[in-house]
Amino acid sequence: MTILVLGGAGYIGSHTVDRLIEKGYDVAVIDNLITGHKHAVNPKARFYQGDIRDRGFLEQVFNAEKIDGVIHFAAYSVVPESMAKPLKYFDNNTGGMITLLEAMHDHQVNHIVFSSTAATYGEPKQVPIKETDPQVPTNPYGESKLAMEKIMKWSDTAYGIKYIALRYFNVAGAKADGTIGEDHNPETHLIPIILEVAQGKRDQLKIFGGDYPTKDGTNVRDYVHVVDLADAHILAIQRLIDGGDSDAFNLGSSTGFSNKEILEAARKATGKEIPAEVAPRRAGDPSTLVADSTKARQVLGWKPNYDDVEKIIATAWQWIETHPNGYDDK
Ligand code: UDP
Repeated sequence: MTILVLGGAGYIGSHTVDRLIEKGYDVAVIDNLITGHKHAVNPKARFYQGDIRDRGFLEQVFNAEKIDGVIHFAAYSVVPESMAKPLKYFDNNTGGMITLLEAMHDHQVNHIVFSSTAATYGEPKQVPIKETDPQVPTNPYGESKLAMEKIMKWSDTAYGIKYIALRYFNVAGAKADGTIGEDHNPETHLIPIILEVAQGKRDQLKIFGGDYPTKDGTNVRDYVHVVDLADAHILAIQRLIDGGDSDAFNLGSSTGFSNKEILEAARKATGKEIPAEVAPRRAGDPSTLVADSTKARQVLGWKPNYDDVEKIIATAWQWIETHPNGYDDK
């Protein structure tokens, strides 16, 4: 069984490639290495460097491989950047999906699992958020992913390409042995930034906004461990290969932590003081995002192993302590 992982050198992609190989799948990886790292890719996977918007390149890979299913992570994912550069997001995320689906259709590859996001819901009317709730993104990143979901729906109707959209909430942590982890440049996500302060690479954390309508005025998010998230992708692609129908699932812990609570958990996990101050709000941030992920548990049989945010942060800290400069390849 061969799975093609697009964006397999990225943070979530590399953990999924690793888990696929541990579970005995044959894996091919595509990544343009703009944000990904070659060293993050398990050496048992076949690696193709190239861009998903390059139809000729995709053609070569689809000719070389006999692909049973595709897991698609190759997208830009930084909310504030998407506010400043929306076209970059629609080009790579939405445009890239069109090129990929054309190649899949031509080669009769009819199963795809794709990274969607909680950002497709925008500012929710109720939490926890259910899959059936309205999707009204508040930023171009979420809009580009919602467009991808819609494109997949019509490609299923027309061509029978079955898809599962996995709407992630916040992802954190690293493989427990600390050999792969998160390495973004520049880093924009809360937990790795907090850990950069703990490392002494930054002076302090700026908490974006202290006047939201939440328990302590800071944004509330729902964190899942990256290996638990990887496992959900494998359950999803196997479900499609076994004849399952197109669907969408939230992936979260169903528990919300405020930015201040995450800071406290990180202080405990690292034993470091981690100076912080409240700063102005960041554009495009919804106040609270917490998943109802009952459906993933019931339908996919997903059972996350990590339910403690401090333990999740501890795995990220283990990666950072053993790789203070990440993959050190940029
Ligand atoms: N955040 C923050 N300071 C930072 C980075 C992020 O206060 O230096 C906040 C951000 O405003 C949001 C939360 O942390 O409320 C999670 O942001 P992140 O970018 O990690 O993920 P997102 O929820 O945007 O996908």
